[in-house]
Amino acid sequence: MQLQLPSPIQAFSFPGLQRPDLAFFVKRDDLIHPYVSGNKARKLKYLLQEAKTLGKTKLVTFGGAYSSHLLATAFAAQAEGLQALAFVRGEEVENDVLTQCKKRGMELLFTDRLSYRNKQQLFTDRFGKDPQAYFISEGGYSELAAKGVAELINELPESYDHLFCACGTGATLAGLALGIQQQQLAIKAEGISVLKHDALAEEIHSLCGESPFILHSQFHEGGYAKSNPELEEWIRTFIASTKIPIEFVYTGKLFKAVEELARQNYFLPNSRVLLLHTGGILPKA
Ligand SMILES: *Cc1c(COP(=O)(O)O)cnc(C)c1O
Repeated sequence: MQLQLPSPIQAFSFPGLQRPDLAFFVKRDDLIHPYVSGNKARKLKYLLQEAKTLGKTKLVTFGGAYSSHLLATAFAAQAEGLQALAFVRGEEVENDVLTQCKKRGMELLFTDRLSYRNKQQLFTDRFGKDPQAYFISEGGYSELAAKGVAELINELPESYDHLFCACGTGATLAGLALGIQQQQLAIKAEGISVLKHDALAEEIHSLCGESPFILHSQFHEGGYAKSNPELEEWIRTFIASTKIPIEFVYTGKLFKAVEELARQNYFLPNSRVLLLHTGGILPKA
């Protein structure tokens, strides 16, 4: 898969925030591929490498009907000449994401919500005897995914005090924490959880071990993919002022939360705060 790396970093300011002493920057991983969400591409790098090393020809993965991980896997499989198959949560539907997945040759298996819960079982039932099949968990969540994300830290040209990302499975935050520790930097790795999930911090630790991170779990605005008029208005104002495209599922909640933290005097004066734009915006077909 052709990726535009390293992704650029730009300064921005929040339209409603009067804190000239704080410097905000965004790393535009949304620009590394037109369809593949930045962090999904980074998370797949070593999973693809392992699949190829093991001689696997079929990627088998899991996601909801709007999953950018499915899209990323479909593109990656096509680019690498591999087959791809996805268990899609819920009843059969059509949308732009799934249309793109099918266009890239991905086979979709719609799976009822109860069976979907046990992904290992689904894989074993159908592919247990297929030596060509390679299991990739939902969202790519794995140590190899964190390893891919950790490389992003090598792309930072200067120092920052905080590095924030939005968290779904938390593999991206685990990767940032790992990379920062490997490079022995003093940057704080911080995540904004976009969903209600009590065990999230534990799951992140299981990927990054003792590498420190801070998880903020009070900014999910009601849960995964939940929105409200205030959030939507905030996003519209932000985009109009900065021209940085964000959406309500991940990056909208991330940027709004960081502004809120600034208002609460979470940051020391003169802090340099970097936000990771993980992508998530599908171009209009
Ligand atoms: C998938 C996704 C995330 C969540 O990444 P995790 O590694 O699962 O925490 C964040 N932002 C965007 C845009 C995504 O598509």
